[in-house]
Amino acid sequence: MSTSIVAPVVSTPPVTPSPSTYRAAVVHGFGTPLSLEQVPAARLTAGQVRVKVQAAGLCHTDIHAAHGDWPVKPAPPFVPGHEGVGIVVELGPGATEVALGDRVAMPWLGYACGTCDHCVSGWETLCLEQQNTGYSFDGSFGEYAVAYSRYVVKVPEGVDSMDAAPLTCAGVTTYKAVKVAGTRSSNLVAVFGVGGLGHLAIQYAAIAGGRVIAVDIHDEKLDLARELGAEFTVNAATEDPVEAIQRLGGADQAIALAVSPRAFEQAYGALRRGGTLVFVALPADNEVKLPIFETVLNGITIVGSIVGTRKELREVFALHAAGRTTVIRETRSLDDINEAIADLDAGRVAARIVFTP
Ligand SMILES: [Zn+2]
Ligand SMILES: [Zn+2]
Repeated sequence: MSTSIVAPVVSTPPVTPSPSTYRAAVVHGFGTPLSLEQVPAARLTAGQVRVKVQAAGLCHTDIHAAHGDWPVKPAPPFVPGHEGVGIVVELGPGATEVALGDRVAMPWLGYACGTCDHCVSGWETLCLEQQNTGYSFDGSFGEYAVAYSRYVVKVPEGVDSMDAAPLTCAGVTTYKAVKVAGTRSSNLVAVFGVGGLGHLAIQYAAIAGGRVIAVDIHDEKLDLARELGAEFTVNAATEDPVEAIQRLGGADQAIALAVSPRAFEQAYGALRRGGTLVFVALPADNEVKLPIFETVLNGITIVGSIVGTRKELREVFALHAAGRTTVIRETRSLDDINEAIADLDAGRVAARIVFTP
């Protein structure tokens, strides 16, 4: 008679050995195509983790980084990408907030000091010591990325990594913008620009109880906006959005997501008295012309909103896990990054491109 012995099931996290080099998309000079090449894997320092990237969204900020468009520039060579999601495969000294095998998101706010006035008051996004993923240090456009364990956010079960990637910047940024706007039930909210950010802003404004007006210059994006909950749409290429929105009574809040100063001015003009304009997009052209007199007499609030905190990203993931949001994205190989950037720049992308390494 034979007996069979069943070996105990040992649960090992899905961890692969850390590499000495990995393939990544590198910016060598502003405005030149990114180069796909092997780069050395840096040794982890205190608090860092290595993540095997599963998905990485392409944000306009990555293109501005690669072009050196903004007053504060990154230093080539560097790897962009701040919508990375993947599995923790290595823990640096003192990295205790996550475990091997955890699935995490690596947002724009890659590091903050944790002790300044901003950090301790729930405004870590304003920390002067902050470092930004894919800008101050290498980002997620590669097979691996390094992040700080305190500043990654665990992705809950029920959220696809391909959805989690755009939520990591486009999602949390617009979620925060709607919070900053102060949208309450029945408010009229004008969302200028229906792209990677705008398609999510529409949904968060609706979740907050707002009635949404979507403004864009492409009819197919306005069709998408209606599918995602916009009650009104305005094609700014064929109709003056200021007139159209003022006919509806004016917007209580306007959220400027299009990378064009003209769209900011239109968003301002679309407000009703007492309204709030939220600046979110960062056009390469850094000037906007707004009137002082009307701002004072109409009691207008203008507020800038930059990404969101880890707490807010958790809220964004929770809403998505609960089925409250839809992420519109297409998947491409990282090998096609230069073509993807050209398509995004030319407005040929419905919402978000997500790379697989
Ligand atoms: Zn971004
Ligand atoms: Zn700080």
